[in-house]
Amino acid sequence: MRVLKFGGTSVGSAERMQALVNLINDEVPKIVVLSAMSGTTNNLAEIADALYAKKHSHAKALIEGLEIKYNLVIKKLYRSKAAFDKSKELLDSHFNYLQTFTMDLFTVNEERAVLAQGELLSTALFHYYLEEIGIDSVLLPALNYMRIDENGEPDMKYIETNIKSELAKFSGKKLFITQGYICRNSFGEIDNLKRGGSDYTATIIGAAVAAEEIQIWTDIDGMHNNDPRIVDKTYPIAELSFDEAAELAYFGAKILHPTCILPAQMRNIPVRLLNTMQPEAKGTVITSKISDGNIKAVAAKDGITAIKIKSGRMLLAYGFLRSVFEIFERYKTPIDMITTSEVAVSLTIDNTKNIDAIKKELQEFCTVEVDTDLTIVCIVGSFSVEKQGYVLRIFEALKSIPIRMISYGGSEHNVSILIETKLKKDALTALNNGLF
Ligand code: ADP
Ligand code: ASP
Ligand code: MG
Repeated sequence: MRVLKFGGTSVGSAERMQALVNLINDEVPKIVVLSAMSGTTNNLAEIADALYAKKHSHAKALIEGLEIKYNLVIKKLYRSKAAFDKSKELLDSHFNYLQTFTMDLFTVNEERAVLAQGELLSTALFHYYLEEIGIDSVLLPALNYMRIDENGEPDMKYIETNIKSELAKFSGKKLFITQGYICRNSFGEIDNLKRGGSDYTATIIGAAVAAEEIQIWTDIDGMHNNDPRIVDKTYPIAELSFDEAAELAYFGAKILHPTCILPAQMRNIPVRLLNTMQPEAKGTVITSKISDGNIKAVAAKDGITAIKIKSGRMLLAYGFLRSVFEIFERYKTPIDMITTSEVAVSLTIDNTKNIDAIKKELQEFCTVEVDTDLTIVCIVGSFSVEKQGYVLRIFEALKSIPIRMISYGGSEHNVSILIETKLKKDALTALNNGLF
């Protein structure tokens, strides 16, 4: 079995959906994971914001606007009246459902139901298209098997059991279509795997069914050596190890959901990043193979807050770091970077939901300084300990950029640097010129 995930732009128009058929219409058994059509999840998030703000007429107008877009899509997508009518009925039911939220209470549960509509629509519309052109496929509802636990982590046991029993209902079938991103939570409510989560769906499914390969099809020819949205003259990297890809994804390479590498890595399933607009391009293959020492790529993660914790009295005493970490653990706030000195510890977080409470508890035994609007720049490669000179090259490239924190040696794959977000473009450009 293969798992192929197609992102928003790959299903972003009637023409793109039609072109997709060429990439999946062969004899290889496969599960095709689709995102919402590009822009849809943003539109749904905007609708949810309007509903939270009780701007009901604005929400209504946004829903109507989105409905018009989808009506244009189905006009182009289908040739037969039967397929058109069926899809029109589908749109009516989903958009009427969205309109019901303009009349009632709106909470986080309703928001998640709103956000789920994009993937429900794209998969059903594509499934109808396959039906119309005579390609046999099964629409597999993600809400029947995809689940996160009380910590928001994929419930792998549940997923494996349930997707297998869903698939077993259709023995002899080769092509399955399913929704990326959406899932149920431990209460059985509709939830999601966070923005960009369709990549995660694909790797979770890949691990659950022990796929031979997971393919992430998107609008670019693989993982580039630097952020192509910010820096000119980037190029695709042919091979990455799971660890390198995981670092890049976690530290901001938008092509992959931050935590989507882990399920594939756990089961040692190769992940291939491919371009729907240029299917013959080699893309990137991510495997357990560790290639020779080299600087491979750079990524950047914004929205970082640094916390400097200073305590003359307790630092280096047994248990000091434990008391600090316990506070972050209690507030379920992951720490990304950490550096220590004789008198202070600096660490970074990106989830600032509980920052005030964390600060208050820390202040009971140390002084605390908080800095916001920071960016982690992450340089990834194989920096095995015997190799020399990498760090020098990195800092030579960054010599004109003020650096707030450095983390090196945590793994053999990553050097992380904390800078002010306003210097991100300069830093990424300097690294591009200096390293590649
Ligand atoms: P999809 O909708 O297919 O999931 P995304 O927009 O989530 O696509 O991811 C693809 C985009 O990621 C690319 O168009 C590119 O702009 C951006 N991107 C950011 N960093 C990188 C990188 N290092 N390599 C490739 N693409 C990157
Ligand atoms: N549609 C969702 C999003 O835009 C999930 C995804 O595209 O991966 O975030
Ligand atoms: Mg994406």
